[in-house]
Amino acid sequence: MRESIDFFDELQQRVDLGLRHQGYLFVARTDDGARAQQALVQAQRSWGLTDVELIDGAEARRRFPYLSGDVVNARFRQGDGWLEPRRLALELARASGARFDTGRTVTGFVLHEGRVRGVATATGPVVAETVVIAAGPLSGPLAKLAGLDLPLATVRRHKLIIPDLPQVPSRAPMTIEFETGAHWRPAGSGAHALWTAPAPPEPPLDDVPTSAAFAFGLLNPASDHALARIVPFWKEVWSSSRLQWWLQAGQYTYTPDRRPLLGPTAVPGLALNTGYSGHGIMGSIGGSRRAVDAVTGRLKPADNPFRPDRPMQSREFDIL
Ligand SMILES: Cc1cc2nc3c(=O)[nH]c(=O)nc-3n(C[C@H](O)[C@H](O)[C@H](O)COP(=O)(O)OP(=O)(O)OC[C@H]3O[C@@H](n4cnc5c(N)ncnc54)[C@H](O)[C@@H]3O)c2cc1C
Repeated sequence: MRESIDFFDELQQRVDLGLRHQGYLFVARTDDGARAQQALVQAQRSWGLTDVELIDGAEARRRFPYLSGDVVNARFRQGDGWLEPRRLALELARASGARFDTGRTVTGFVLHEGRVRGVATATGPVVAETVVIAAGPLSGPLAKLAGLDLPLATVRRHKLIIPDLPQVPSRAPMTIEFETGAHWRPAGSGAHALWTAPAPPEPPLDDVPTSAAFAFGLLNPASDHALARIVPFWKEVWSSSRLQWWLQAGQYTYTPDRRPLLGPTAVPGLALNTGYSGHGIMGSIGGSRRAVDAVTGRLKPADNPFRPDRPMQSREFDIL
C-alpha cells in the first residue's frame, strides 16, 4: 500500500489523477466504539502511522460542523485520500507503451510440453512466455481452465453515486461511521456512498446487477446503517424532491487471509496477480510490482509473503 501511495503522489505531480488528500474521518457514536477507536489508534501508531489523530466529540464537531451531537470520538488522518481509478489505469496503460487488445476474451490456455505458452481467444491464440491471470472476480474460473483451484470467494459490493448534492462540503474528508462502516465522500458536485453489507459469496459475474435496497439502506434515516446517523444533513437529502442517484456494483475477490495472490503457480508458465480482497486500487502498484518480480525471479518464493501457495489463516471481513 505504501509503495502504491508514494507512486500515486509522485505521478500526480505530472498527471492529474484526481488525487485528493482530504483525509479519512472515522466517527464513533457509542462508548464501546470510542474505546475500540482509541485502541486502534494506539495500534496504528505502533505500525508506523504516527499522524493519526484521536479527537473527542466536541473537537470533532468544531472541525467538522456537519457531525451529529451524539458523536463520542473520531479518528482522523489527513494524509488519507482517494483518486480516480480510471484516470490512473489509462495513464499507466499509456505510459507503459504496451499493446492492449481490449474486448478479446481469453477462453483457455495454450499448453506445450506441460507448460503454458499462451492463451486461446475466440479470434485465435496469443503466444507468451508467461501468462498472468489478472482477471479480478473472474480469475477463479479462468484458473480452473488450467486445472488450478484458487482459494477465492466473490462477494457483491455496491456504490451509491449522487451527482448533485448542495449539502456536501467539497473539502470534506471520507466520513465513516465506525460502528457500521457506512461512509460517504465528496465527488464532483455530489457524493459517493458505500457500505460493506454482510453478503454471502456468489458465483463470479462479469455484469453485476444492482439492488435499490442498497441505496435505501444508506439514505433512509430509519435504516440501521443510515448515513444520517452521524451526519444529519443526510435527512434533508432523503426528503429532498431533487434527490437523484444511481448504483454501480462489482465483486470483491476475497482470499481467506484478505491478501492478494502474487507470482508463479504450480503450472509452469502461469502466474497470478489477483485476489486483492477489496483493496485492488490501493494495492495495485506495489502488488503488481511484486507479481512481476516474482515472475522474473527477482523476488524468491521464500521472500514473497503473497505467493499463491502460502499457508493462509482466515481473517475477519474488513470494515471498508
Ligand atoms: C463497489 C466497490 C468499491 C471499491 N472501492 C475500492 C477502494 O476504495 N479502494 C480500493 O483499493 N479498491 C476498491 N475496490 C476494489 C477494486 O475495485 C478491485 O480490488 C480492483 O478493481 C481489482 O483489480 P484487478 O485488476 O485485480 O481486477 P479487475 O479490475 O476486475 O480487472 C479484471 C479485468 O479482467 C478482465 N477479464 C476477466 N475475464 C477475462 C477473460 N476471460 N479474458 C480477458 N479479460 C478478462 C475484466 O474484463 C477486467 O477488465 C472496490 C470494488 C468495488 C466493487
